[in-house]
Amino acid sequence: MRRHRIEHRGNPEYYTPIYEMALSQFEAAADKLSLDPNLRKRFTNPKRAIMVNIPIRMDDQSVEVFHGYRVHHDTTLGPSKGGIRFHPDVSLGEVSALAMWMTWKCALMGLPFGGAKGGVRCDPLALSRNELQRLTRRYTAEMIQFIGPDIDVPAPDIGTNEQIMAWMMDTYSQFKGYSIPEIVTGKPISIGGSLGRVEATGRGVVYCILEAMSHLNMKPDGKTVVIQGFGNVGSHTAQILSEKGCKIIAVSDVHCGLYQPNGLDITALRAHVSRHQYLKGYTEASEISNPELLELPCDVLVPAALSEQITNDNADRISCKILAEAANGPTTPTADQILKDRGIFIIPDILANAGGVTVSYFEWVQGLQHFFWKEMEINERLREIVSMTFNNVLKTAISEKVDMRLAAMMLAIRKITESNLARGLFP
Ligand code: GLU
Repeated sequence: MRRHRIEHRGNPEYYTPIYEMALSQFEAAADKLSLDPNLRKRFTNPKRAIMVNIPIRMDDQSVEVFHGYRVHHDTTLGPSKGGIRFHPDVSLGEVSALAMWMTWKCALMGLPFGGAKGGVRCDPLALSRNELQRLTRRYTAEMIQFIGPDIDVPAPDIGTNEQIMAWMMDTYSQFKGYSIPEIVTGKPISIGGSLGRVEATGRGVVYCILEAMSHLNMKPDGKTVVIQGFGNVGSHTAQILSEKGCKIIAVSDVHCGLYQPNGLDITALRAHVSRHQYLKGYTEASEISNPELLELPCDVLVPAALSEQITNDNADRISCKILAEAANGPTTPTADQILKDRGIFIIPDILANAGGVTVSYFEWVQGLQHFFWKEMEINERLREIVSMTFNNVLKTAISEKVDMRLAAMMLAIRKITESNLARGLFP
């Protein structure tokens, strides 16, 4: 029985709790679609996975070796696409799960990309700027065969940013002998980045929340919002939602949570963070812990940090009407079922946070054409794609009598399946 299960579910080397999570979401959709068993086997594991040892000279002249990964889950629809994560928990299983989610996300949004993800197991906050630069450049050099504008296009994720993308672009260009900005997205505007890319993920989260509110007959004005995480995604989501009239009553970062029942002043809070790096020390709110924050009664809860935050342990105490998954994989499958039974409306990660990769697509297209768009045009095209996809997912959820996650997965898998069957099997 066990033997059969492992054979059926592919290579156990990828298996970690988060990979199991991605796989069980895929299997639920594959069952519902009665997916061709050959394709089911192919999608169960990544197309390829690269693991590298990255030796770096530290500032004290010692040499440290870091572990780096890049996983291409599927490339049926085009070059693979996905971020690079610098975090102490990065592993092959985690990167593979995130790569699989990228495959579904790109397909769902109608982007001509396959899914990938990369990462280095490190604590970027503990590295100096020079160490970080050497690590980024050596990681890029080790990956040189596996990335490229027509092969695989990296972007930022947790622990990486515009500067890291600029170093990656420069390293790749040095190897090739000329400037190739379209090797990465999420790079600075000065070297070919796109207007609106930094805010794009937050903007996409907001467009999804507004669509969900309109479906549930709620008006944004005065609605209470709790956001876990105040990095790029969390802080822009907070800023844009507060501009739409919502009341952001709590936010958090790695060190603490802040609670203000009358609504936080997000502009002041962002100014505080740009001065002090963290939320700690902001005086216009009371401190709460991250677990307390997740359980605060609110209209909208936005987990915008790490995966596996809403689990069997806290799902029955989550007290929101809409859960917008800005992070990748914040809800475990058991928690998902509990929230569903309790009538919470979930906007699944592959839809909620897809604004980032959508504007990455715009950035890649602008780079390939050497023709750059206005910010208004970018935001408008993003809104159009996100709203249209949200409503397609909602329509499928209603007609197939499934939840939003299953509906989104079904649409994504259907799309790749169609292209895969058209292309056939080589050789
Ligand atoms: N890391 C982001 C994500 O998880 C963005 C990926 C991209 O822009 O390629 O969707």
